[in-house]
Amino acid sequence: MSTPPLNSVDVFVAGGGPSGLATAIAARRHGLSVLVADGAVPPIDKACGEGLMPDGVDALHKLGITIPQGEAQPFRGIRFVSGNNQAEAEFPRGTAYGIRRTTLHRIMVEHAEASGVSLRWQAAVTGLHPEGALVAGDPVRARWVVGADGAHSRMRHWASLDAHQRKHVRFAFRRHYYVAPWTDFMELHWGERCQLYVTAVGPAEICVAMISDSPKLRLEDALGGFPELSERLSDAKHASSERGAITVSRRLRRVYRERVVMVGDASGGVDAITGEGLFVSPHPPRLLG
Ligand SMILES: Cc1cc2nc3c(=O)[nH]c(=O)nc-3n(C[C@H](O)[C@H](O)[C@H](O)COP(=O)(O)OP(=O)(O)OC[C@H]3O[C@@H](n4cnc5c(N)ncnc54)[C@H](O)[C@@H]3O)c2cc1C
Repeated sequence: MSTPPLNSVDVFVAGGGPSGLATAIAARRHGLSVLVADGAVPPIDKACGEGLMPDGVDALHKLGITIPQGEAQPFRGIRFVSGNNQAEAEFPRGTAYGIRRTTLHRIMVEHAEASGVSLRWQAAVTGLHPEGALVAGDPVRARWVVGADGAHSRMRHWASLDAHQRKHVRFAFRRHYYVAPWTDFMELHWGERCQLYVTAVGPAEICVAMISDSPKLRLEDALGGFPELSERLSDAKHASSERGAITVSRRLRRVYRERVVMVGDASGGVDAITGEGLFVSPHPPRLLG
């Protein structure tokens, strides 16, 4: 992976998750020089329902990214399940994919590198600077600074963009299971204490994500309230460890100030149950046009 000197770029992106990488690729397509810094090591995992909706697939295509066959599991719609009741709808157009976060991240990183984006991993962004930003305390000069550092963005705070109109917090856990998918729909199971969503991410693997108001409710306990799903998973081996996340709904009063612009979850967000975060991420900010 490329390790450029930290000096001067057109666009500096804090955070190399889906929205940071999408923004970086879009900026490169406009001929701008781009540096992305992320504190983590790729491929970056995250608790997620792992459903990439048709609009998200389209947005990736516009950035020149196609999900290779075999890297993801297509699905054709959403099914809501509540006790004995079910309702389902197919997408009016396009295909959606269930895709492991680590797979999506690897594909986006490869594309960013091929596009000429400079990437720095294990490089924490530590603040703003009058002419750009600070990476591990060192200044990087940039015409634009993009805050793509996720829902708990520090960049948002440094740029005094924290003011928001509403905030609702819920708690999530996800785990993967080795089991053949039983449907080509993404399933949303509604229970009294929580919702579970089930996404096939391969021919023999599914992702189960649980979202609730309680920080104490864990996935295995929650499954007890969904006997049919529990039965399907009873003999399935775990394909990953349980990973938690907080999902925050908030609308920022503004998403840019001077040279700093927020994108992705850092720019606000909707509850994870909507399955929309990854769709929003691949849309680059209009500022760069
Ligand atoms: C339980 C759950 C289920 C979800 N299910 C779906 C779904 O099915 N479909 C969907 O489309 N969306 C879903 N989402 C939403 C989706 O996960 C997010 O919208 C998406 O990850 C946002 O991407 P991002 O790049 O903005 O932020 P992130 O993915 O959070 O990336 C932020 C990056 O910034 C880096 N970073 C943070 N601070 C710093 C720093 N100071 N310096 C350097 N780097 C930093 C982090 O290491 C990280 O790589 C779900 C979310 C949750 C919580």
